[in-house]
Amino acid sequence: MLAEPLLERYRDLLARGAEAFPITLGEGGTPLIHARRLGAELGLERLYLKFEGTNPTGSFKDRGMVLAVNRAVTAGARAVICASTGNTSASAAAYAAAAGLPCHVLLPAGKVARGKLAQALVAGARLVIIDGNFDTALDAVRRLGEEGSAAVVNSINPDRIAGQETAAFEIVDALGEAPESVALPVGNAGNITAHWQGFSRYARAGRASRRPRMLGFQAAGAAPIVRGAPVEAPETVATAIRIGNPASWRLAEAARDESGGLIEAVEDEEILAAQRDIVRLEGIFCEPASAASVAGVRRLARAGRIHRSESVVCVLTGHGLKDPDAVQAEEGTLNPIPARLDAIRDAIGAW
Ligand SMILES: *Cc1c(COP(=O)(O)O)cnc(C)c1O
Repeated sequence: MLAEPLLERYRDLLARGAEAFPITLGEGGTPLIHARRLGAELGLERLYLKFEGTNPTGSFKDRGMVLAVNRAVTAGARAVICASTGNTSASAAAYAAAAGLPCHVLLPAGKVARGKLAQALVAGARLVIIDGNFDTALDAVRRLGEEGSAAVVNSINPDRIAGQETAAFEIVDALGEAPESVALPVGNAGNITAHWQGFSRYARAGRASRRPRMLGFQAAGAAPIVRGAPVEAPETVATAIRIGNPASWRLAEAARDESGGLIEAVEDEEILAAQRDIVRLEGIFCEPASAASVAGVRRLARAGRIHRSESVVCVLTGHGLKDPDAVQAEEGTLNPIPARLDAIRDAIGAW
């Protein structure tokens, strides 16, 4: 039997009347994993990882894209358009393909992970690389959207945020209650906004009796909210959060303040160390931006700002395979040896 699509599962909270959602790629329903080994390393007994890499295009963007594209079709859009640091274009391209709509993507030159670019291209998206950063690209998309015909599917589209609320619903459903804290990477700040709105909606609907503290983490080289001013030339290995002027800036601050949470910065070295630890201790390979959540929680735990028994969910926003260039795998040692058992035993060394 086919699993019930995400938008049908939460239709009572998301749908307008009897609207239909014919387009689905099997988004959502991602695992929430109790991270025992990583938790022990961080001194946290109830650390959970929400792995969004199992979405159809490998990131949480699919949760919002499915709603945005279904509604674009209903509204009679002739194309979809987005600016992207990578994952939005991969997701938009896939859902537009399923809807039979052309997809146009504006990408900042030279800053997009290889896997994400391949995903958009192979799904038939039309790529325009611009000589500027993400913020410039989003500005152009905004204006083109106002001219009509193409639906803008960036997170400035409220359907994107509404669809992404489903991650919060799933976390509560899995734990039976909202956790005490939820940690997320913050780029354009749509996802922290969506999670907060989702937890709030679930609490209002009587499906959770509390709301978590929202812990947002920006990369130190792209931390406008932490600094309180836009960053002209954002720089970080975590390309998905390489954004200098977040579209949902004020809403992210509201999520932080209303939840009694925080938005802080983590260094690229901490992000890469967290990415490695997550996969070496838990077997989950996420992309660098995703690991900012764990890097931030590690900082807070070390400083005694999270209690050992507190329930903490780190949202791992995207799959590590999207950006294999970001990890320093030791492929250089993979030289062939003779195919004899004695040689193989020697190569393996001690068990
Ligand atoms: C888009 C994205 C982010 C940032 O989310 P925002 O909603 O822009 O804050 C983080 N991680 C990954 C993997 C992403 O694709």
